[in-house]
Amino acid sequence: MTITLRNDFHGTQVRLRPRVDSRGILHLSPRQVTRAKRALCVEGCTCSGALGNRGPQESTFVLRQETPEGGFMIEEWHRTEKEG
Ligand SMILES: [Zn+2]
Repeated sequence: MTITLRNDFHGTQVRLRPRVDSRGILHLSPRQVTRAKRALCVEGCTCSGALGNRGPQESTFVLRQETPEGGFMIEEWHRTEKEG
């Protein structure tokens, strides 16, 4: 599946393809997290959270750090907007 994260401060968005496990939890690798942050926000900016996202998203979700290297799990992702 593909998800879109947005940053309403910079007016940016990024599409990611997380690994989905058998429990429906999405996993982002450290590399994907770095890519998202670079696409959504800028170096040294503090407008956003761990993934660079800010403001309304296509789903509410719970974000948990997965690995010390910077991987994240996204729990309770329930898309509220039509995929486009
Ligand atoms: Zn920013």
